Amino acid sequence: MEQNIHIPNTFGLPATADRYIVVRSEAELLSLLGSGLLVQGPCLIVGGGSNIVFANHFCGTVVHIENKGIRLLGPASEAGGLLVEAAAGEVWDGFVNHCIDNRWHGAENLVAIPGTVGASPVQNVGAYGVEAKDIIHSVKAYEIATGRERVFTNAECEFAYRNSIFKQRLKDRYIVWSVTFRLRRDFAPNLGYKAVAEALAAAGVAHPTARQLADTIAALRWSKLPRPEEMGSAGSFFKNPIVSADHYQRLKQEYPDIAAFAAEGGYKLAAGWMIEKTGWKGRSLGRCGVYERQALVLVNRGGCTGEEVAALARAVTEEVQARFGVALEKEAIII
Ligand SMILES: Cc1cc2nc3c(=O)[nH]c(=O)nc-3n(C[C@H](O)[C@H](O)[C@H](O)COP(=O)(O)OP(=O)(O)OC[C@H]3O[C@@H](n4cnc5c(N)ncnc54)[C@H](O)[C@@H]3O)c2cc1C
Repeated sequence: MEQNIHIPNTFGLPATADRYIVVRSEAELLSLLGSGLLVQGPCLIVGGGSNIVFANHFCGTVVHIENKGIRLLGPASEAGGLLVEAAAGEVWDGFVNHCIDNRWHGAENLVAIPGTVGASPVQNVGAYGVEAKDIIHSVKAYEIATGRERVFTNAECEFAYRNSIFKQRLKDRYIVWSVTFRLRRDFAPNLGYKAVAEALAAAGVAHPTARQLADTIAALRWSKLPRPEEMGSAGSFFKNPIVSADHYQRLKQEYPDIAAFAAEGGYKLAAGWMIEKTGWKGRSLGRCGVYERQALVLVNRGGCTGEEVAALARAVTEEVQARFGVALEKEAIII
């Protein structure tokens, strides 16, 4: 057990906790759960710290999951399907690349997302037309209160846009230990995302291999997002909000170029577009800024603190609310 250690996080914020415990094996996990320590006070599970903004010292125990292992379990029930299990502590991008190298297909569009396998079902990570829910078969997790193991089926995870049961009803109640993915032997590229199809067409690639598709997506991603090793961030800080059809029509009259598309419950608006309209894109408050190439992303301009991130997030949210009557919801978790 290490005390007051700096907790790794991609925003590069000074992050500390009363206790910081790294768990690498199931035996270590069961011993920790059996000790009762995690029910004696607040506890936070972390993977890569790429979706958490540490605005305060965490008065409790941070548990960093670092178990490793990826294995092919065997065929899935449908023809050509495969079940692949990955430990929660595996780096997500390493897992995706391992799958590509082994010709286990379906995860290519999710390449280069920072973080771990264990966090992928928590917020149902998604990018370039694919979400984790599309390839997750089941999730093995341990209940913190009882130490009991439970396997959640895909349906039981209650996946939604950047959301799941682990972020809602069962928030902070389970430790994800491994995730089983349903992949495919055959490769059917998902080119539904316009920018991906355009980039491949521009490169003269009509029938991409899995590797070409992943490389194209990684290049697109890093043309718009800051690489964590170069500039601190938590990726998209805000979610794209869904508003009613009435609300959308009113906004459309005032802003004919508003970026939006039909979604369940109304219209999903591009939060980045709204933030840009408020004039915040590229600006900073203290040492925290709105990234110049993608207004959804808040970045560390150097030496930024969690309080500065929270202050900028508040200022942006208030201006979007005042101008568009839309409440921005955070995608990142503020501690
Ligand atoms: C540059 C950049 C780009 C990004 N792009 C995307 C993107 O395209 N799409 C996308 O969806 N996200 C994106 N993200 C956000 C982030 O990568 C994902 O949310 C990722 O899944 C977080 O993984 P993590 O291991 O770092 O989780 P953490 O930040 O450590 O934790 C996130 C949440 O998951 C919980 N958690 C983590 N591990 C476990 C576990 N084993 N058991 C239970 N709970 C756990 C934590 O308690 C916390 O609530 C991006 C982030 C960055 C910095």
